[in-house]
Amino acid sequence: MKLRNKTLIFLIPLIVIPMTLIGAVAFFKLKNLTEHQLSTQAVTLVEQISGYVDNKVSTAEANLLLLADHQLVKQYAVAIDDTVRYELLLPHLLDVFNKLQKSVPHYYEIKFILPNGYEDAVWLEANLENKHESIRNEVFFDEMSNSTLPVYTRLIYDENTNKHAIFLAKKIIVNSPAVDAVNKPAKLRGYLAITLSLDHIREQVNRNSIGNFGFLAALNNVGQIMHIPDSSKQYSDDLISLFQSNIASDFSQPSFIKLQHKDETFRIYQGKLPANMILIGALAEKEITNNSIALGKIIISISLIAIFVAIFFAFITLRSIILRPIDLLTSAAISIGQGKHTPDIDIKREDEIGDLAKTFIEMSNNLNQMHREVNYTANHDGLTGLPNRSMFTAYLKKILTIAEQKQQKVALLFIDLDDFKSVNDTLGHKAGDILLQKIASRLSNTLRDQSSSAKVTYPKASDLVARLAGDEFVILLNDVEGPWEATAVSDRVINILKTPFDIEHNQTFVSCSIGISIYPDDATNDNDLIQFSDIAMYHAKEQGKNHYQFYAQKLNDDLQKRLKINSRLRHSLNEGNFNLVYQPKININTGKITGLEALMRWNDDELGIISPADFIPIAEESGLITPLTEWLIRTTCLQIKEWQSLNNNCPPVSINVSSIQFKRRDLPEMITTAINQHNLNFNQIEIELTETSLLHNTSEAGDILNSLSDMGIRISLDDFGTGYSSLHYLNTLPIDSLKIDKSFITNIVSDDQEHAIIDAILAIAIALDLEVVAEGVETREQLNFLLRRHCDTVQGFYLSKPKPANEIAELLDHNFLENMM
Ligand code: C2E
Ligand code: CA
Ligand code: CA
Repeated sequence: MKLRNKTLIFLIPLIVIPMTLIGAVAFFKLKNLTEHQLSTQAVTLVEQISGYVDNKVSTAEANLLLLADHQLVKQYAVAIDDTVRYELLLPHLLDVFNKLQKSVPHYYEIKFILPNGYEDAVWLEANLENKHESIRNEVFFDEMSNSTLPVYTRLIYDENTNKHAIFLAKKIIVNSPAVDAVNKPAKLRGYLAITLSLDHIREQVNRNSIGNFGFLAALNNVGQIMHIPDSSKQYSDDLISLFQSNIASDFSQPSFIKLQHKDETFRIYQGKLPANMILIGALAEKEITNNSIALGKIIISISLIAIFVAIFFAFITLRSIILRPIDLLTSAAISIGQGKHTPDIDIKREDEIGDLAKTFIEMSNNLNQMHREVNYTANHDGLTGLPNRSMFTAYLKKILTIAEQKQQKVALLFIDLDDFKSVNDTLGHKAGDILLQKIASRLSNTLRDQSSSAKVTYPKASDLVARLAGDEFVILLNDVEGPWEATAVSDRVINILKTPFDIEHNQTFVSCSIGISIYPDDATNDNDLIQFSDIAMYHAKEQGKNHYQFYAQKLNDDLQKRLKINSRLRHSLNEGNFNLVYQPKININTGKITGLEALMRWNDDELGIISPADFIPIAEESGLITPLTEWLIRTTCLQIKEWQSLNNNCPPVSINVSSIQFKRRDLPEMITTAINQHNLNFNQIEIELTETSLLHNTSEAGDILNSLSDMGIRISLDDFGTGYSSLHYLNTLPIDSLKIDKSFITNIVSDDQEHAIIDAILAIAIALDLEVVAEGVETREQLNFLLRRHCDTVQGFYLSKPKPANEIAELLDHNFLENMM
């Protein structure tokens, strides 16, 4: 899982859990607070209104006391004379009542009541009609009469208004100074009463409500509803039944009782009103619940917003502090992994991440440096500093792609030093290394030297010298106009090597062979181009070294054939597909066979009959010549043994020994083993060697030839006249006979120069006491010529082709003179 997701998984609970807890705690706290506030609001309202009403009633009591103390009231109370009382005093008294009523309108009835309950002087608010003249029959009359309170206060139901009202009465107890004795106790003269309208309570109840769903109501002293807003009338019955059993007695502590109406619940707060009335405030539970729900919604919204904001900011912060740098470092690591060694790491900080980034940059710089070094080492040859094979092939590929697009020609010069091995062998490897370095430097300079030939436009910046291996170099010439440009550079290369090298104070000469292949004439891909220049180089070597050779298709076909032969050779050696034929050497004076030459024949299952001239050089190259020669010697010895058992006249048999085989010192041993195995004499074997095989190995050849000759084996020099012979070794080496090459014999009759050569060879042979054999005699004329020149021994198709062993057995006693007739 990505760190980004992990961070989120880790952050979310870390933020969500505490936020949710805080939200929950806040919710419950706020819910309680709301509940408390709503209750307080209800209680306060009830108390305020109670106080207000209380105040009204207290004011009324005070006003009543004041009024009672009024001189006019007292005069009126004690007036006995009706005329004085009703005609003189009453109008003034009613005027006082009127004034009071005008100043306090809700004192709607002010009256003077006689002690018997008769309403004596009544001032009633203008629009009201007094429906009773006495309160004698009122339930409270006795209570009022007996009351000792300064003011008797009572809730009444007033028939005049058909409403509840508060009735306040003050006993008027006075003596008339005019009538009564001074010490006579004062006498009850009547009651002064104010009836107080409760409209203000109704008003308050209607005007105020508790919350959206609550209400106020005023109840009388027995729990009957006096005022309730119309909108809350539906609760009246429940309220009445509740208060019949639940009238509060102690209002000092705010407490509430529950009211259930259908599925609505109210908390009822009670307040004490004067005259034992009760004011109730009903707070709907719904109010609390709705408020809580609204609160809950707000808290949830706030919490969610807070959570998101917190997660967002925490994530943003974490991202910029940790995730982004990690992302940057990760992509840097990836691009380093992909080989881009200088990734952009834009982190400049003084913390651990900053340190990590610095380490990364350092690491990538080191990698970069290392990569450059490794790259250089991987692409350059450690000894000469030239590009190596891998760089060269990569470069060649690139150049060929461009050449293909631009339709250009490219020349490849494959340079191989001639006989470099002998430098190593004679001067040592260290000297060899120095020579290679010097050659590399000369080759590089050749490319850079522009002065040497006016016609050559080289070097081009895109040309390249590289060392492929050992003593193999290549020069790549880009965009050549034709083969002549490759020729010119090849000539220069050959030329610059002509100056001897000074290697550890030894003048060292070295030459090279160059093979040239051209794109796209010879090949269209890099591999073929290299391979073909290599083939051309081998061809140049075969042609005698120290020159160059262009690749031609035939060279390639030859190579393919050689490769095929090579692989089949091994197979045939195992399968025993080789056999020998024998060609007689005949003394033309006696007609007798004087010797036989064993010639190898190879009939391959796949390739058919292959000439030894084709497969022997290949066998020499591959080293298969050794087992082949062993087989040859064994088979020849076995055959001699077989002929001997048939006929006593078995002439010596010559075997051809290749130059490679001749280099090996075990040849005498090989022959000895075979001869001993079949109990033969050494003089029954003759060795045929070419001049060239002697040429390269003179000292070794001398040793081997001497030991062979000492054993009694005859030595014959084959193809005499074709090699670069030094006549000197004819004298020093133990040579018994010369075989004049058949090329001289072919032209013997027509060409006078050939006569001269044959005469010279015969003269040498006579002088050195050597036997001479003429090979390849095909005609009567050639034979006659040789007869005249006293060249006694001949070999050729004219007298006998090479034949299988059984046919030779029949010829051993044959006289060839008959064939010459
Ligand atoms: P070479 O040693 O000079 O052998 C003589 C070649 O001349 C033989 O060819 C032979 O068949 C051929 N020849 C003989 N008389 C005539 C003639 O009148 N006219 C013409 N045109 N050719 C004639 P071959 O057998 O094809 O051998 C070719 C070469 O292969 C030999 O040349 C020899 O160098 C080599 N060779 C053959 N057998 C062996 C072998 O067992 N070991 C080695 N090392 N080389 C062998
Ligand atoms: Ca031969
Ligand atoms: Ca020969």
